[in-house]
Amino acid sequence: MDPTPRQLKTFFMRTYGCQMNELDSEIMVGQLIKRGLTRIEDEHEADLLIFNTCSIRDLAERKVMGKIGQLGFSRKKRAIIGVTGCMAMAKKDSLFRKLPHVNFVIGTNNINDLNHVLDEVLETGRQTFRVDDQFEENLDYLVAKRDDPIKAYVSIIRGCDKFCTYCVVPYTRGQEVSRPPESIIEECRLLVQKGYQEITLLGQNVNSYGKDKPEWNCLFHDLLYQLDKIDGLKRVRFMTSHPVDITRDLMQAIRDLPSACEFVHFPMQAGSSRILKKMHRIYTIEQYLEKVAMLREIIPNVSLGTDIIVGFPSETEEEFLQTYERFKEVRFSVAFIFAYSARKGTPAFRWIDDVPEEVKQDRLQRLLSLHSEVCEEERQALLGSDVEILVERRNKDEKLLKGRTRCWKNVVIEGSDSLIGTLQRVKVTGYSHQTLIGELSQSTTDLLQS
Ligand code: SF4
Repeated sequence: MDPTPRQLKTFFMRTYGCQMNELDSEIMVGQLIKRGLTRIEDEHEADLLIFNTCSIRDLAERKVMGKIGQLGFSRKKRAIIGVTGCMAMAKKDSLFRKLPHVNFVIGTNNINDLNHVLDEVLETGRQTFRVDDQFEENLDYLVAKRDDPIKAYVSIIRGCDKFCTYCVVPYTRGQEVSRPPESIIEECRLLVQKGYQEITLLGQNVNSYGKDKPEWNCLFHDLLYQLDKIDGLKRVRFMTSHPVDITRDLMQAIRDLPSACEFVHFPMQAGSSRILKKMHRIYTIEQYLEKVAMLREIIPNVSLGTDIIVGFPSETEEEFLQTYERFKEVRFSVAFIFAYSARKGTPAFRWIDDVPEEVKQDRLQRLLSLHSEVCEEERQALLGSDVEILVERRNKDEKLLKGRTRCWKNVVIEGSDSLIGTLQRVKVTGYSHQTLIGELSQSTTDLLQS
């Protein structure tokens, strides 16, 4: 095997997990490109390999451990190997015992240190470890290398203070720390100057934004009003929202601001108040449904998304049916539905995981079928309607253009590449599987021909 490279020319980056991790990877890729490295897709040829990991599910964690473990044997050429992200936060330097060929471990709060850590590894040849509890704000967001030229993620708050009993995030990403509004606004302004049309504000709980810094006098809805003033910013989305923190002020901002999209990812998690209490979601199902009613009253065209866990410890069939009925009542447009799996380090890990796997899978399938029915009805209802889409790119087959509505629905249309990056009015004429088929509305066609 070649010796460990002293000079790095190429790197390979693999990202697991959520949008927060995707953004962290974009920031690290930006730092490496600034350092003069080239990104390549062949993990066997790269001088540096980084695995930006996720700890949210046991299976995801086992997969990545297996993948990195295998590299210790399969690579002919030596490389620097780094593990970053949530698994680094959860396992800290114990990762070196399990994966002795890993050269560095960097936690989610230290991604801005990547180049310093690399220098240290190259100079000393020692395994290096950086995992702090708090994120240090700096302008490294600005070097992020984004692959998508039209839509960008922007982080506004890191960490979570809610401590749901099944979730590792408060332990892997630490407590909530809001990013200063000036820094967010500056980044969004620069993105718009570069041609970005849509920004998704990210945080484990964006609705808590600014609560940790009362002196800023800027809560989440205030931030949305400020962003709406940026000339040229067409769409703002955000995720995720904890139901307890969503306020009437925020709902009114979504209704009133042209840039704020009418889609709220608003995880219910379960339809039984007893299970919600066991999950430490700090709301009852009645309180959740009250917020849904308020959202629909204030923003009549709002679309809702949710996360649901089925088979949580001690969940009975009757309690699952409550989740099923609430899902049917709310009619979520977007749903991420999972069978419960225990995560080490969480309170629920100590409880007996007593719902048999086949029962979990059966509940999962029933809820997924219900979700498909809801989506089918939504698509039917949209036939003949006029919707706004942001045209993002050519579809996989290169024949059609693909875009999304304000409420997160995929739409394909015929048209030229000049439409990419523009907002268009489209008439929905049909659908295939989960994608709506549309055609440019008459007014748009007239405008293009004039
Ligand atoms: S609010 Fe979300 S991120 Fe925070 S602990 Fe609960 S599930 Fe995890």
